Amino acid sequence: MTGDEILLRKFEGAMLGAAVGDAIGAPVEGFSGERAARLYDERGWKMVSGRYTDDTEMMIGVAESLIACRGFNGEHMAMQFLRNYDGSRGYGPGTEEVFRILRRIGCQRWREASLSLFGGEGSYGNGAAMRVVPVGLLYHDDVNKLVEVSYESSLITHAHQLAKEGAALQAYAVALAVRSDTGGERLKMLRALKEAPISSSYMEKLSRIEEILRMERHDDEVRKRVISELGNGIEALNSVPTAIFSFLHTENFVESIKFAISVGGDTDTIAAMTGAISGAFHTVSEIPDYWLTDLERQSYIRQLADNLHKLWKEM
Ligand SMILES: [Mg+2]
Repeated sequence: MTGDEILLRKFEGAMLGAAVGDAIGAPVEGFSGERAARLYDERGWKMVSGRYTDDTEMMIGVAESLIACRGFNGEHMAMQFLRNYDGSRGYGPGTEEVFRILRRIGCQRWREASLSLFGGEGSYGNGAAMRVVPVGLLYHDDVNKLVEVSYESSLITHAHQLAKEGAALQAYAVALAVRSDTGGERLKMLRALKEAPISSSYMEKLSRIEEILRMERHDDEVRKRVISELGNGIEALNSVPTAIFSFLHTENFVESIKFAISVGGDTDTIAAMTGAISGAFHTVSEIPDYWLTDLERQSYIRQLADNLHKLWKEM
């Protein structure tokens, strides 16, 4: 396989990996890790319905807008989010509130809508990080641009610094996974992540990741430490590091998703973010057919990945 073919498979792996993680995590969202893993163990890790949630719907919107505008355009991306919005996909109340504001004031004022949430602080949820995959792909070789577009695309719905940094960190993890050779060293990637422009709260989490990775591997203990020290919640700070860990701790795509699910909590988003990094690293060839076949709109998501790859080559 040529380098370009491998790169294409990495783009497809990231997009489809995220959607697969989302669809697997959705039916067990809010479960304890034990209960979530038990449900899937009993069904041989087959998907329940293959239906994805807001995470994938918004990731699709980010990709569609980047492709249509050949780069970031805030007004267009906000409009794309509104066009794609399907209320049955489990959107968070904060994002739905932003959508109401955008419909009222118009998408040309996309910089303002998210700022009015939470008393002017903006949301620090993981809603910007969960959809950022296409940004990590398109700018995988340009960190400054990657950070800039991660921040800007976050601002449409999530204005808080921790949400924006979480999105940039997730995009950067995807980018590093795209850039690394399959089989490359994981700790090297963790060291590179520490060079991302993130504040001390995230830096502290990355140090915890390293500590837990160095533990002798007793899975229950590892899981307990991940839940208590990295988190399994809806805040970007308490879920992006967990997704990064789920990838770094495991050897292949399937195991990374299984680990993410076994942490419980915000499983659809954590598994989606894990699947994006893991899929980018291991390529689409490692995502089992029994997951891809069951995934809703599989071929459309693959086509978006192919178009992002084409756009990257033309830029
Ligand atoms: Mg969701």
